Amino acid sequence: MIQENRKKIMDALEPRVRPEVFRTWCRDLDFVQVDENVVHVPAPNLFYRDWLERDLRRPLEDAFLTAFGRVPELVFRVRDEGVDEPAGAPAPEPGPLPPAPARPRPVDPPGNTLAINPAFTFDTFVAGPTNRLAHAAAVAVSECPGRDHNPLFIHGGVGLGKTHLLQAICQATLARNPFARIVYQSCESFVNDYISAMQKKHFESFRARYRGADLLVIDDVHFLGGKDSSQEEFFHTFNALHGAQRQIVLSSDSPPRDIRTLSERLISRFLSGCVARIDAPTFEMRVAILRKKAETRGLPLPPDVAAFVASRIQSNIRELDGAINKLIAYRSLMGRSLDLALAQEVLNDMCVSPSSTQLRPQQIIEAVARFYGKRPQDMTSRHWNKSTSRARQVAMYLCKHHTTLSLAEIGASFQKDHTTVLYSVRRIEALLQSDPTVKVDVESLSTQLGV
Ligand code: ADP
Ligand code: MG
Repeated sequence: MIQENRKKIMDALEPRVRPEVFRTWCRDLDFVQVDENVVHVPAPNLFYRDWLERDLRRPLEDAFLTAFGRVPELVFRVRDEGVDEPAGAPAPEPGPLPPAPARPRPVDPPGNTLAINPAFTFDTFVAGPTNRLAHAAAVAVSECPGRDHNPLFIHGGVGLGKTHLLQAICQATLARNPFARIVYQSCESFVNDYISAMQKKHFESFRARYRGADLLVIDDVHFLGGKDSSQEEFFHTFNALHGAQRQIVLSSDSPPRDIRTLSERLISRFLSGCVARIDAPTFEMRVAILRKKAETRGLPLPPDVAAFVASRIQSNIRELDGAINKLIAYRSLMGRSLDLALAQEVLNDMCVSPSSTQLRPQQIIEAVARFYGKRPQDMTSRHWNKSTSRARQVAMYLCKHHTTLSLAEIGASFQKDHTTVLYSVRRIEALLQSDPTVKVDVESLSTQLGV
């Protein structure tokens, strides 16, 4: 049991026993969590164990209830009986404890093993401008569940980190309270559970499981669209939990209103808490994600390789992950060094090549802005700004030469008309003949963009 949780129990136990008993007998108590429902309390000898059983069980159960809102099964055992830690010094003879008032123990729902990827934590999640709200709300929910953001509804496209955040909430919640009853399910499993409850007429256990949760996390809730009776059941589950201030966290590929054939009352429930959208990551976030993923695999990524991969894979973080895995596999299987050439091969192999993925103006704008130390919004700003004018012309030139877009379409990306684009393209074409600096800039940018 982590130290912080042990402290919570001890703080709750202290006022429940006489000070001299606490000082002498309880200070060295240890807790070994077996699962979410069972905790072993090791004792140095049989006598001590019997005393724990007889006199300390009730105060300890109350302490767990105060600390975590739940009482797990407490098993007092002599250390030498196995599993627990090595024997400590023999304990002196304990005296009796004052009797504690009888209190019925809460009944636990059937055990719930979370199918969670241990790598999906807040530590491994890169927060940035496109996911800042979702990240902040997720952290807040794990710190103060059921309070300010209930439900928390996170939506965004495929591979943008919804499941990662949901699982991070579960893991952070469990770290704070190892006895929290967490139900984490894909929406598809919820629907399947519901169907089998209907078939077997097991509604009671179905409802006990979902409505007994302290934290209900349903991934990909858009799956409810068009499933009327599952929606009905979910509506009642939602209300029962929400009414009891239990935290609900949902993810979806679209905002509540855009989920097809979702009942109006569910839409309004989903909108009633915090709705946070995740957008595709910026270039800087993509680089940070790549580096983090590579580091966790024990392989630092050279900056030029990270920049190259990040400029090619834009919209799906899962693909960034795939690219890292491939880079690492190629490197070790073929004994190659982790450089730009290898990255180029890996991306070609993943069909992320210029021919299969046409560059988009935004990609070019980001790369050029970075190159000249500007912000992407400066490149498209309506105001004429001398220092960004060259960068903007280069970006327009690259758009003209490396996309199939018309002058007007390129102009739209810069909030300019097609004559400005034409002028810029001509200007850079002329400078390429006369100014070696411009030539070098355009060539380096072309390499970075993989064209
Ligand atoms: P979604 O559920 O939105 O389809 P996932 O949560 O499954 O996406 O994320 C896909 C992959 O991308 C996972 O490997 C996840 O760890 C990673 N990922 C997504 N967003 C981030 C982020 N901001 N920081 C680090 N990794 C991320
Ligand atoms: Mg997902």
